[in-house]
Amino acid sequence: MSFENLGLTAELLRAIREQGYTEPTPIQRKAIPAILTGKDIMAAAQTGTGKTAGFTLPLLQQLAINPLPKGQRPVRALVLTPTRELAAQVGDSMENYGRHTGLRAAVIFGGVKINPQIEKLRRGVDMLVATPGRLLDHVGQKTVDLSQIEILVLDEADRMLDMGFIHDIRKILALLPSNSSRQNLLFSATFSDEIRKLANRLLDQPELIEVARRNTTAERIKQTIHPVDKGRKREMLSHMIGSRNWRQVLVFTRTKHGANRLAKQLERDGLSASAIHGNKSQGARTRALAGFKSGDIRVLVATDIAARGLDIDQLPHVVNYDLPNIAEDYVHRIGRTGRAGNEGEAISLVSADEYRLLNDIERLTKTKIPRVVIKGYEADPSSQAEPNQVGKNSSRGTQLESKKGAAKNRAETGRRRSDNGGSKSSRGDTGEKQTAIKRPHKHIQRQHSEEKSRSPQRRSRTKRDKEIAALLGG
Ligand code: AMP
Repeated sequence: MSFENLGLTAELLRAIREQGYTEPTPIQRKAIPAILTGKDIMAAAQTGTGKTAGFTLPLLQQLAINPLPKGQRPVRALVLTPTRELAAQVGDSMENYGRHTGLRAAVIFGGVKINPQIEKLRRGVDMLVATPGRLLDHVGQKTVDLSQIEILVLDEADRMLDMGFIHDIRKILALLPSNSSRQNLLFSATFSDEIRKLANRLLDQPELIEVARRNTTAERIKQTIHPVDKGRKREMLSHMIGSRNWRQVLVFTRTKHGANRLAKQLERDGLSASAIHGNKSQGARTRALAGFKSGDIRVLVATDIAARGLDIDQLPHVVNYDLPNIAEDYVHRIGRTGRAGNEGEAISLVSADEYRLLNDIERLTKTKIPRVVIKGYEADPSSQAEPNQVGKNSSRGTQLESKKGAAKNRAETGRRRSDNGGSKSSRGDTGEKQTAIKRPHKHIQRQHSEEKSRSPQRRSRTKRDKEIAALLGG
């Protein structure tokens, strides 16, 4: 099937040709015609499948073929994204695909000056791509009017709810025309059943679009686990990058502090490296990303939020230096490679304390990821813990890890809230301090047995879902 069969206008087909796309991806084949009928949709697609064009192209077409009288230029379409980087990328796509339509887009996110954004809005835009926090800042300053939105897109919708944006989203929804007089599109790489149910309430008889098994990892990505002792991860990473001659590798760490430290250590090992996370200024984030894309920086060390939505052409290697606390994040992380039909490799360095997280990931993705021991870096057998033994084990070491995981998870959730592009005035940053674990007192140790039986991921999800259900009146 070609793009010509999807009912797109000549202006859009021209822009698609200029992008070099020859045929639509599966999500585009399904989503474009559905959106053009004006229906609400809820689309679950693997990351890197071309979903941005899947909603941007029909959105542009809907606006272009229904022009408003001359002299009127209200904001007609709003795309909400969880992160600045994703907002910038969606904005770029709008400009690229819409270059022959005469429609104008603005991108709005925090961490940069608000005045140029105000100026752009004042000149008139048809489409807005925004992170929720900064958008509400504009609403507060009355520099944006959302009362004439015809199309609303929630991109990475599950993650927006996950990151605690539900309050902001509700506030924004209240400023839009009623549900029935606008088209609502929900895009997400993963959909838990709970989020799916809740999201359904926001949509009017949505058409469900699914192009891959839910919560699966892209099939073009070769996944490997390298068991290793925690203290030897950095050394092994440098060895792998050097001996395999990797020129461009994205490495994930759980914390901002960890990202900084690792980038510094890799530099000391002679590898050009940069860290990207929410505590870095937007300028530093943009510079690091540009250096990485151009090949000047060989290793980009990122936290989950900063890397969300990154689209790096033909990125060959992703390394999980730490496994994420939330299993869904694994899917998003490794989805940075193997994009748009390219092959990719995702490697996870897993120490004994992380096997429970690995278990969660394998359960979610319904795959058993091959374990490959690297010669010279064999994990010390005395620190090995098999997946289902972690949690049943009553040793003090395991208890400490359990508590550590829970505390880290809380701290990470806090960071997520602050790592999204909202202004400092509307949200605080919990910082790294919360990850510091003190040796537990005896009475706290007793509570650990309860903590052990529930993974950090499950607890945080239950809390989050309760909050969402309450807010949505469920
Ligand atoms: P996305 O999933 O929207 O982040 O897109 C992933 C990558 O696929 C981006 O680099 C797009 O430019 C690229 N892409 C999107 N649609 C197509 C297509 N039909 N053919 C080839 N590449 C595409």
